[in-house]
Amino acid sequence: MSGRAAHTRSSRRGLRRRHVAVLALVVLMLLAAERPKGLADVAAVRTWSYPDYTRVVVELTEPVELVGDDLTRLAANRKAKRPDRLYIDIADVWVGRDYLEGIPIEDGLLQDVRLGQYTLHNSRLVIDLQRYGHHRLFTLESPHRLVIDVFGERGPGRDRPTRTVRTPRTQNGRLPVAARPVRTVVIDPGHGGKDPGAIGQGGLREKDVNLKLARLLKRRLEARSFKVVMTRDDDRFLDLEERTAIAESSKGDVFVSIHANASRRRSTRGIEIYYLDENHERHSIELAARENGIQPRQVDGLQRTLAKLRVSEASVHSRRLAEIVHHDVITGLDSVYKGSPDLGVKRGPFYVLFMSSMPSILVETGFLTNRRDATLLRSERYLDTFAAQIAAGLGHYRNSVTPPATLRASAESDLPAVGAR
Ligand SMILES: [Zn+2]
Repeated sequence: MSGRAAHTRSSRRGLRRRHVAVLALVVLMLLAAERPKGLADVAAVRTWSYPDYTRVVVELTEPVELVGDDLTRLAANRKAKRPDRLYIDIADVWVGRDYLEGIPIEDGLLQDVRLGQYTLHNSRLVIDLQRYGHHRLFTLESPHRLVIDVFGERGPGRDRPTRTVRTPRTQNGRLPVAARPVRTVVIDPGHGGKDPGAIGQGGLREKDVNLKLARLLKRRLEARSFKVVMTRDDDRFLDLEERTAIAESSKGDVFVSIHANASRRRSTRGIEIYYLDENHERHSIELAARENGIQPRQVDGLQRTLAKLRVSEASVHSRRLAEIVHHDVITGLDSVYKGSPDLGVKRGPFYVLFMSSMPSILVETGFLTNRRDATLLRSERYLDTFAAQIAAGLGHYRNSVTPPATLRASAESDLPAVGAR
């Protein structure tokens, strides 16, 4: 009895397997032949490896609809040679077979990312893990993006930078801000490409002024033997991830974003410098929204989620950096160009919120909507004086943070220079 029943069951199982195989074949044929109407497309899949996490961004042509509200974690199955894995289904998205092969990452945290057509209407995003601590999931608009950050202790990865410095490290493997000598400055000329930023008197475009000043600043900083990394060095559009990724992967020690202001009141003019801080005022949020091309409400939401994780250590240094640069800029410009109004040092969340690891300031060089300021910002000589004063400020900041311990360590011949990478 048992034998027969078993036989029946097993032949049924065999039949079902065949059915599944046939069904899979049908789905594949459907994939090749027919695509339901009204589905969004996957515009791009990008990944970035930051010091303490890896970011996966799926860009879609329509707003993201998730099936369920978080990723599901599936434990590894060694027999089936299946690694630990995270997955989530995205509704009404057509991916076809474009990402079935997967995008290899192998950065010691993620192995690869795949995206497949799970049903005719839903796509499934699968992240194969090498290590895992925790993750976060959120969406961004313009363009529509699904963002997954996976945090964890990195294992050995393909491109993992080797570090030999024997000094205390923060969790992300870098020296704490306070103990890090200032060598590399990341200059971020705001806006660019399709995003002109503010438009001022006589059609003066913010993106052009920012780039011009940034290039002058680069030259001035290199003359002071700083290493300089530019987030852009031509007229190109960078989205938030790109800007952040360039800055983070450059392993900069300070971040200087260059912008010019605009106001509906044409009489408003002056210079203001913002530093990254977790507390902020309403005005700062609006500025952050404008500078990032997103809604104040979105900044607020992200602010709440991310600020806690990030800025507390760097914000003390950001403030000091802002104050030193502010002093040099205002006094230096005042001695040459009388009466440049000083709007002071302010705290504000800007997109460097998305960064974790370096003191950051944002310099608003003047109001393009004001005639006097616009005339100044058109002048190469004025911009160069401005750049020279920012560079002087960074020099003073560098001197003020180089800790004695670092100098001692550098002097010991058996140790590589602290901060060497
Ligand atoms: Zn701007």
